[in-house]
Amino acid sequence: MKEIIFASHNKGKIAEIRQILAPLSIKVISADEVDLPDVEETGTTFEENAALKALTIAKLKNVPCLADDSGLCVDALGGRPGVYSARYAPNRDFQKAMQMLLSEMAETKSANRDAHFSCVIVLGYPCGKYERFEGRVDGQIAFEPRGESGFGFDPIFEPDGYDKTFAELGAEIKNKISHRGRALQKFVAFLKDKGL
Ligand code: IMP
Repeated sequence: MKEIIFASHNKGKIAEIRQILAPLSIKVISADEVDLPDVEETGTTFEENAALKALTIAKLKNVPCLADDSGLCVDALGGRPGVYSARYAPNRDFQKAMQMLLSEMAETKSANRDAHFSCVIVLGYPCGKYERFEGRVDGQIAFEPRGESGFGFDPIFEPDGYDKTFAELGAEIKNKISHRGRALQKFVAFLKDKGL
């Protein structure tokens, strides 16, 4: 069993990453389990923030480390909240955040409900080098939250090709088609390519 630190305290993300990497016998150690500090996301892109988190922890622990940065980009809102998705939620209250986002969209009077989730996963090395793996899923913003599974904005995101939200589709389908699932598939291909 291989082990890798994933520099995140987000329980929803960690659960997804564990599910996706479990068949490869990769044990994911969360930031909570090794008492890692919170790294402030001072970058303006998903890649900058993911690299910042992965490299800070890789240097601190002197082992390669994974981190991701992800977010929801809504066309009618000019791509917001994007890299600021986590901070869009007041006190991490995503029920409120979804209502705020739906109100903002209503105010634009735009009929355009297109949106996508983006994710950049970075494998950072203690020497400061890193590899990046990117995933994206396109879809639509629903008119109201639906479904119970997942986390964050899942109840208001309907991926293209489905008439259900991520929160209604459940983990198995979400992990196959999500931004994070797709970025992790590239990470897994990279590991296989390296014979790991
Ligand atoms: P960060 O990557 O820790 O900065 O947080 C990304 C934020 O984007 C999360 O707190 C969620 O608000 C949102 N987000 C990212 N990925 C997902 C997802 O798969 N489902 C729902 N919301 C997500």
